[in-house]
Amino acid sequence: MIKIPFVDLQAQHRALRAEIEPAMQAIITDCNFILGAPVVEFENAFARFVEVKHAVGVGNGLDALRLSLEALDICPGDEVIVPANTYIATALAVTQCKANVRLVDCDAATLELDAGLLEKVITPKTKAIIPVHLTGQAADMDPILAIAKQHKLHVIEDAAQAHGTLYKKRPCGSIGTMGCFSFYPGKNLGGCGDGGLITTNDDKLAERLRSLRNYGQRVKYEHVELGGNSRLDTLQAAILSIKLRKLPDWNEARYRHAQRYRELLKGVGDLEFQTENPDSTHIYHLFIVQSLQRDQLQRHLTAAGIETGIHYPIPIHRQAAYKDLNYSLGMFPVAERLAGRMLSLPMFPELTEAQITRVTDSIREYFGDNNG
Ligand SMILES: *Cc1c(COP(=O)(O)O)cnc(C)c1O
Repeated sequence: MIKIPFVDLQAQHRALRAEIEPAMQAIITDCNFILGAPVVEFENAFARFVEVKHAVGVGNGLDALRLSLEALDICPGDEVIVPANTYIATALAVTQCKANVRLVDCDAATLELDAGLLEKVITPKTKAIIPVHLTGQAADMDPILAIAKQHKLHVIEDAAQAHGTLYKKRPCGSIGTMGCFSFYPGKNLGGCGDGGLITTNDDKLAERLRSLRNYGQRVKYEHVELGGNSRLDTLQAAILSIKLRKLPDWNEARYRHAQRYRELLKGVGDLEFQTENPDSTHIYHLFIVQSLQRDQLQRHLTAAGIETGIHYPIPIHRQAAYKDLNYSLGMFPVAERLAGRMLSLPMFPELTEAQITRVTDSIREYFGDNNG
């Protein structure tokens, strides 16, 4: 039985091999491994793509988030608001700055942070909000920005799943004070290893971020602050520049696949779909369905050779690592309910019509709805 992977990186790389390999060989010949010219070239290309003045390449998405908080001087005791349904990195960045994570629930329809709940968790110690553009759709930024402005809070966008998403025609990553991206291989734009980047229109913050990612140095061996080491690798930057040119087409292909899934799965079993926010485009990093029979459905698909994922099975407040937050069961009912119902179907640009129908036929078969 030929499997359908959740993400098919091999298909992507087969198509790009002729471009990627010479680019890597050139770097190995030049030996400009750390912050070489390809890093600057990629930063400039990505800044243009997100329509911002500055892009600062870093080691990974978690570091992008943490360095953004450090650049804003988020300190121990400060509070930062994060959605309860996100990848743990969003919360960990706050914890790594020794600041306190404050969670808010998400909207049951769009799955994005519920801006209507923000005011309740804001205290005099709150310094920032990190909305996550989860699944490739933008968080509802206007109400978030309005509340942030009123309470003088920074907004850091977690755009690790939103490379190219537009909110009211503005690219995600250009809307808040800073935008944080991950180039983990499985993201819409992914390297052949780890990578991350921060976008901003603020000259001072960009300069600070460049210092913080590189040992706090202004010029070599002159260290003006306590920085660290989190630099975007030159090889990764060269690969990412090649892939960035394909990204708009890839994102469109994902959108088409998502609409096809919706057509073929409409009315099947108890399936529910994420509501698309008309204010946002959707680049479908993830295509999520919801069912009360999620676990059985996932087992059925696995047995049929179809790989699926769950994003995410345990909300932040239910993670053992965060037991000290002292949030109890029932405090974030939407995130908790979603955690038991969500299933992510195979989603990647190279997905074929035959693969899509194999997935949807298998789901129909599970629900006994072959003629639907
Ligand atoms: C992937 C991801 C991150 C972390 O990125 P890494 O590069 O793996 O550190 C952060 N936030 C979200 C929402 C993500 O999906």
